[in-house]
Amino acid sequence: MVSRVIPVEPFDLVIFGATGDLANRKIFPGLFRRFLSGQIPDGSRMIGAARTEQSREIFQDQIRQAIRTFVKPDKQDAKQIETFIDCLHYVAIDARGDAGWPELKELIRPDVVNAFYFSVAPALFGDLAERLKTHAIAGSDARIVVEKPFGRDLASARALNKSLAEYFEEQQIYRIDHYLGKETVQNLMAVRFANILFEPIWNSQYIDHVQITVAETVGVGGRGSYYDKSGAMRDMVQNHMMQLLCMIAMEPPYHFDPDAVRDEKLKVIRALQPVPAGDIVRGQYLGEPRDDKTERMPGYLEDSENPESLTESYLAMRVNIANWRWKNTPFYLRTGKRLRARTSEIAITFKEPPHSIFDEAEGTWQPNQLVIRLQPNEGMNLKMMIKEPGPGGMRLVQVPLDMSFAEALGEGGADMPDAYERLIMDVIRGNQTLFMRGDEVEAAWAWTDPIIADWDARGDKPRPYDSGTSGPDDALMLMHRDGRRWRHIK
Ligand code: NAP
Repeated sequence: MVSRVIPVEPFDLVIFGATGDLANRKIFPGLFRRFLSGQIPDGSRMIGAARTEQSREIFQDQIRQAIRTFVKPDKQDAKQIETFIDCLHYVAIDARGDAGWPELKELIRPDVVNAFYFSVAPALFGDLAERLKTHAIAGSDARIVVEKPFGRDLASARALNKSLAEYFEEQQIYRIDHYLGKETVQNLMAVRFANILFEPIWNSQYIDHVQITVAETVGVGGRGSYYDKSGAMRDMVQNHMMQLLCMIAMEPPYHFDPDAVRDEKLKVIRALQPVPAGDIVRGQYLGEPRDDKTERMPGYLEDSENPESLTESYLAMRVNIANWRWKNTPFYLRTGKRLRARTSEIAITFKEPPHSIFDEAEGTWQPNQLVIRLQPNEGMNLKMMIKEPGPGGMRLVQVPLDMSFAEALGEGGADMPDAYERLIMDVIRGNQTLFMRGDEVEAAWAWTDPIIADWDARGDKPRPYDSGTSGPDDALMLMHRDGRRWRHIK
């Protein structure tokens, strides 16, 4: 397979929060992998910044360790690691203080691409933006990258947008949703808009319903008190699942261009109908029963360290989109912690053929289903009805046309870049297509806020569910009453 990667210009990339978890686990290992694939041009600088006072050498050693821990062993060429490490610099900076900024300015070259990654708490975004300007470090071409969570409601998202807009134009702001960096998610656009096959039937006349599932086996232990202020709606639905829904539901953009794509996503979010309480099921996972075991899995109330918590670790909901394309085709979303398996997928279930000619197949018919797997094993599966082999009449059986991207694309597929790698390189290239625009984020909160406000007003109590299952039984009923079934989580 011939790779035609668009080359990037040399750049200076500053990572604020360089001593943190995200920087060590994702950002620097991702940059190293891009370096190995020849995408980091000679002369580029990667500059870590955080409050910790440490030398450049100690920081370089920290990143060496991060590469050893988070990059596959077969990619760990000692010589390459050292060449990469040579591009790293470090400056001790407090986002709220004025020390360190002149040193940073010294390191930044105005004649190359300048990008600033805010891998810190959102409360610091405004401070960083302000100081980058007041110290005359970021010019009008500089880019800033901000992490989730982008607000916890519409008011805080507006305030964040406003604090960034004081210093940067919208074309300079890259709001990360790492789901958009996943190859499969981008593939959704390729499948829909680079093939004639699906688009003519991609509407409520032919699609019965859509299921979007993001299931995790882990609980919230370790970050329970942080998660407890968020919950599945804020942590997963308002951002990641909303983006997946947009990719399925949006109209074809006129061009694969940042604003053309984001305009179409925004129209979908604005067309989302309010969700009545009866179309939502919230849950909280239970712990393992206490017995003589020394190790037992705690329940959500223990993990969150809040025995009174009303925060959901599971959410299932039926969402309707009020436009011509999707009228009467519900989208069912479900996400949860401590479920049976770790799986993320989108399943599009098509309607029955208008008339059956196979009398003997009575009762065996099953709908066509297109399943797009985000994890594990990214790929697609199209379920089709065919004739069951052998004599004895025309019996039908459903078979999958299954494609694993890693297998189908050979080496190129096995080496698919991590979402962060892809997105960071898009920042350097100046391509905002896979980043959320300010109005998109606000529209998503405007839809989410009343749902959460209703739970708060009613003191809505999440239903308990056993760990290792597919969530609360009531979620099954959400589908059953519509004559539908969730796909098995496996
Ligand atoms: P973290 O481990 O707590 O790291 C925070 C970083 O910010 C540290 O490097 C810390 O270094 C630095 N910092 C704190 N206060 C600072 C200040 N006043 N001035 C300058 N630097 C300061 O957090 P994280 O997990 O890496 O997350 C970073 C951001 O990414 C957060 O917004 C988080 O919500 C988001 N995010 C993280 C993940 C993830 O998997 N970790 C996933 C999605 C989004 P010093 O203490 O040395 O200053």
